[in-house]
Amino acid sequence: ARAAAVAASVGPGRTADGHPVPLLANIGGPKDVPAALENGAEGVGLYRTEFLFLDRADAPGHEEQVAAYRAVLEAFPGAKVVVRTLDAGADKPLAFLPPSAGEPNPALGERGVRMMRLFPEVLETQLAALAEAARDTAAELRVMAPMVTDEADAAWFAEAAAKAGIEGAGVMIEVPAAAIRAAHIAATAGFFSVGTNDLTQYTCAADREVGALGRFQDPWQPAVLDLVAMAAQAADAAGRECGVCGEAAADPVLACVLTGLGVTSLSMGAGALPAVRAALSRVTLQECRAAASAARAARDAEGAGRAARDHLPGLA
Ligand code: PEP
Ligand code: MG
Repeated sequence: ARAAAVAASVGPGRTADGHPVPLLANIGGPKDVPAALENGAEGVGLYRTEFLFLDRADAPGHEEQVAAYRAVLEAFPGAKVVVRTLDAGADKPLAFLPPSAGEPNPALGERGVRMMRLFPEVLETQLAALAEAARDTAAELRVMAPMVTDEADAAWFAEAAAKAGIEGAGVMIEVPAAAIRAAHIAATAGFFSVGTNDLTQYTCAADREVGALGRFQDPWQPAVLDLVAMAAQAADAAGRECGVCGEAAADPVLACVLTGLGVTSLSMGAGALPAVRAALSRVTLQECRAAASAARAARDAEGAGRAARDHLPGLA
């Protein structure tokens, strides 16, 4: 009720001509809930669950997980809460799973859903805890898998979720292969959420941990925008939602471009919500589409940003 009340006081995300773009919060645990509510989040678009698993020798047990999930779900009655299952490996190594440091290229190694396919009992415990937490609350629980590469990954995850009683499991689109095959994956996945941080890293072959690659570690890269458009179009054709939960959603100008590409919701750190809400309220859907086309036609990330701004006079 509190989430709905705050969201109502600031209004839901929408363009100047009334096209709704639900604005959701990225959270890393119950501690982030107050800021999400204060900034009028209409739900949670990305609950990163790694915090529960980091800096400890053993995986958290069932009861501990139920408590952490319930604390978040209870705060969003009637709203969507998208929980990403454990994204271990690469930049998120865990003590009780084999260290990705042993791999020559951890970002290209066993991580996300790949790691869960090696240790299915870790995912089973998590999904069972999520199902139980949701039983006691009025939030609309959704689960999604990180690092899905192909339709088989999506199907494997959807089956694991269904076994725990959670239907309509979604996938993150953060591997270029998944974006390219989005039409196929949409047949299996309940929804898409584009992770632009990793999608940019993998599309531009630019390690997200290497600051010097900034020019390529930029979601404005036209190739990244093309892949987002592919995912959004495939989702739309299949009657699925396609949100964005990477850092790109927190950039007010890029948020308008993503809307123009056909993205159906935007999820970001709570602090970014007011500026993105304000930007959307000053542009029309048509302007967003024109900005998106212009950005995709640019020759690099910087040019894409410049071209987009030219088509969004309300943001000047
Ligand atoms: C992403 O990759 O864009 C994403 C949202 O996930 P993370 O940053 O946690 O890898
Ligand atoms: Mg990611």
